[in-house]
Amino acid sequence: MSEDIILNINTITERIAKACALSGRDQSEVKLLLATKTVPADRIKVALAAGQTLIAENKVQELKEKYEALSEMPHTNHFIGHLQTNKIKDLLKHEVSCIQSLDRLDLAEKLHQRLLLENKTMEVLIQVNTSFEESKFGVSPDEAIALTKQVAQLPTLKIKGLMTIGLLSAEVEKVRKCFRLLKQIQQQIIALQIPNVNMQELSMGMSGDLEAAIAEGATIVRVGTAIFGTRPTPDSEYWNENK
Ligand SMILES: *Cc1c(COP(=O)(O)O)cnc(C)c1O
Repeated sequence: MSEDIILNINTITERIAKACALSGRDQSEVKLLLATKTVPADRIKVALAAGQTLIAENKVQELKEKYEALSEMPHTNHFIGHLQTNKIKDLLKHEVSCIQSLDRLDLAEKLHQRLLLENKTMEVLIQVNTSFEESKFGVSPDEAIALTKQVAQLPTLKIKGLMTIGLLSAEVEKVRKCFRLLKQIQQQIIALQIPNVNMQELSMGMSGDLEAAIAEGATIVRVGTAIFGTRPTPDSEYWNENK
């Protein structure tokens, strides 16, 4: 089992290297983030021991449950799930350095208030729904710039870029369109030169579509299944608004 994880990491690293080579990018421009939802701490530890450093949960509850066990190994935590405002306090207790799933002003404002109280700052990515699927979280593409401007006014939040989940489809060209759209929004925001906004990160691409994402400019790919195997719970548990 632990050999599997290490072999899988090697396979993913090779896929990233190939995709970078194909698009003339330097491999150091693309970070691998391990999406660890449903994965027990001891399996995550295998990946950390193999040299991985960036992991992310979708639920504050899981972050909490694994926190103790993982604290002995150096790593960086991002958060990539739908964040309810009543979980903010709890999330801030668990050393998350970046919330990639900031998708609404209400959440940004409540985060800001809490961070002010705790005298902290937080890196964030604005999550954009580039696939126009109702089941996906994220601000709609035509509202992404307005949200970015509003979040930029909250000094505890440090905008570092954009995140998206591409269309889950076997049709590569449709998937690529999502990633291309995120890149276009990034370029539009850069052109606006909004104070307190840094657009260096494009978090896009998962197990099935990381090549397309890298071709379109991803700087963070988020991989779960291809490293830890199929999950016991369907993704609708994590992605559906009506849960
Ligand atoms: C689960 C998840 C991933 C990883 O998906 P895989 O297809 O398992 O690689 C990436 N991003 C988000 C937001 C996720 O919830």
